[in-house]
Amino acid sequence: MHPTPYDVIVLGVGGMGAAACHHLARRGKRVLGIERFDIPHAMGSSHGVTRIIRQAYYEHPSYVPLLRRAYDLWRGLEASFGEQLLHVTGSVDAGAPTDEVLKGSYDSCQEHGIPHEVLTSAELTKRHPGYRLPPEHLALYQPDGGFVLSERAIVAHVVAAQAAGAEIHARERVLDWEAIGDTVRVMTDHGTYAAGSLVVTTGAWIGRHVPELAEIAVPERQVLAWLQPNEPNNFAPDRFPVFNLQVPEGRYYGLPVFGVPGFKFGRYGHLGETIDPDDLNREAIPADETLLRSFADRYFPTGAGPTMALRACLFTNTPDGHFILDHHPAHPNVILASPCSGHGYKFCPVIGEILADLASGDETEHDIALFRLDRFSPPPPVP
Ligand SMILES: Cc1cc2nc3c(=O)[nH]c(=O)nc-3n(C[C@H](O)[C@H](O)[C@H](O)COP(=O)(O)OP(=O)(O)OC[C@H]3O[C@@H](n4cnc5c(N)ncnc54)[C@H](O)[C@@H]3O)c2cc1C
Repeated sequence: MHPTPYDVIVLGVGGMGAAACHHLARRGKRVLGIERFDIPHAMGSSHGVTRIIRQAYYEHPSYVPLLRRAYDLWRGLEASFGEQLLHVTGSVDAGAPTDEVLKGSYDSCQEHGIPHEVLTSAELTKRHPGYRLPPEHLALYQPDGGFVLSERAIVAHVVAAQAAGAEIHARERVLDWEAIGDTVRVMTDHGTYAAGSLVVTTGAWIGRHVPELAEIAVPERQVLAWLQPNEPNNFAPDRFPVFNLQVPEGRYYGLPVFGVPGFKFGRYGHLGETIDPDDLNREAIPADETLLRSFADRYFPTGAGPTMALRACLFTNTPDGHFILDHHPAHPNVILASPCSGHGYKFCPVIGEILADLASGDETEHDIALFRLDRFSPPPPVP
């Protein structure tokens, strides 16, 4: 047994685990964060330089208060880190007038008084010439959208956590854990550690560590493309807002050129491949490139130059696309976090704050009703 007991052990120091370590350590908790790969690394869900952040939230209006807090926390983190982590470009949510992406983002703006404009496809192209959407489509433009730097933000959270006293171990693999009363024990390939609480933020592997989640937090292979724009000015951060688009081919997201010499985008669901995260094909295959290039050829023709990069990544999808943030059903001192379904990164700092609340045994002031685990429980039998 390791001689040093901790208040909290965090399993997995990716996007969410790094933020949890920071928020716990800044409250004076003795924290141990354990990560199987490097910090940061390209084996999970948080690599690829950038992630979209946006306030117009078509997925559900109740994400908006969390987003507002996340923006404040991102600004605080970059001030302490001394590097810009959040870049504002504006965001576009677009589709046919009845599509969920457009309608949902409009509803969230209305409900929360978020500034926005609704543009026709032609108006959008005039203002942002990279876009060539179908003529009947509408676009909701929200000026506060943009992107965060995902690997740099993990570094920033870990540096802040360490400065506040957290101990972080990379290249150490968690093998198992157990909770007995108010103590948890974590077994790794290096040793065994004890603490009062456990936070499980193992991303695509969470079903491996929490069998109760195996059927409801399902890993899926994604591939991101970066294409060299033929008209680079159209895809620079000051000309090209980040987007979520609903088009007949599916739902796509994209970002301006930043960090890799290409305009970046991907398709939600990609090829529909549910996978074992340890068995992920990380090499792009021709079908990946064909699917992604055909989208860019059609809707971003001035962005569809030579391929610069293709990278595989992991989504962890719940059946309703909303996060899981809750106590373990059998162990109140074990906190579970699966904030992915392809849209979790922007929330990292506020999720870190929520996880710190829950792992400290406190109520959180954030509304997390949407993320409770019991929404997946079978309904009670009819009497
Ligand atoms: C292609 C792609 C595009 C996306 N785009 C966006 C976007 O634009 N905007 C947005 O907000 N979100 C986006 N997301 C979602 C977002 O990236 C995720 O919500 C976020 O990365 C999830 O973070 P995480 O901490 O849960 O997972 P990860 O960052 O993967 O962290 C989990 C960690 O647990 C570690 N781990 C696993 N098993 C063990 C073990 N046995 N022992 C120790 N450590 C272990 C892993 O190594 C990993 O570091 C995207 C995701 C992908 C894949």
